[in-house]
Amino acid sequence: MRRKLAAGNWKMNGTTATLDQVKALTDAHPDPAVDILLCPPATLIAQMAWARGSHALQIGGQDCHAQDSGAHTGDISAAMLKDAGASHVILGHSERRADHAESDADVAAKAQAAHAAGLIAVICLGETLDQRDAGTALEVVTVQLRGSLPDGATAANTVIAYEPVWAIGTGRVPTVAQIAEVHGRLRVTLHDMMRDADGVRILYGGSVKAENAAEIFAVADVDGALVGGASLQAVDFAPIVAAL
Ligand code: PEP
Repeated sequence: MRRKLAAGNWKMNGTTATLDQVKALTDAHPDPAVDILLCPPATLIAQMAWARGSHALQIGGQDCHAQDSGAHTGDISAAMLKDAGASHVILGHSERRADHAESDADVAAKAQAAHAAGLIAVICLGETLDQRDAGTALEVVTVQLRGSLPDGATAANTVIAYEPVWAIGTGRVPTVAQIAEVHGRLRVTLHDMMRDADGVRILYGGSVKAENAAEIFAVADVDGALVGGASLQAVDFAPIVAAL
């Protein structure tokens, strides 16, 4: 039985003033039956870890370098995220793949570093609108999964997030049939790649809101959500957590 996961990606949003949302969220779900993960900017990880107190809220980074340390100005290592209080790290988000030209091989190398540091890697993948319209979405996500999953990935150290690029921040959401088809394909591919594929959680991400969460979470093989905009305010994120 896979434990559900509601993950929030704050992207490049949030300052210390925003940390009041942690209390609002943990007050709304004092003893959650699902995993809740917030991924703030790296500057807020340590303070968020302090703000959560004894709550089970999990905290993640949004990227890490493939190396442990060294001359990489502006980058952050997996060990540094762990040291600050993170248990997870988002890798291969489409914004990083687009803005920083990250390849599947880059994502796999980063995931390997995350695992070595004891972090759970949340590996993102998803097709563009052109690829969806061309009918190649399944092929695209299969290639991304095969290329982005490192050796040593297990159900314990890896989460997959299917995030169609055209659904991120747009208000557009695939049909439940389209989500089911992709998640089913990802599960089959995982079985081909690892022994404990049944235990790997596959999240859906892309314009998840309180209004559409229950319908999406009812889809087979959807084990939770990776949420961007609607994770910034507890008043929006708490109902999504409740829908899981
Ligand atoms: C995301 O960026 O991972 C995301 C899913 O964003 P949004 O929920 O805002 O579409």
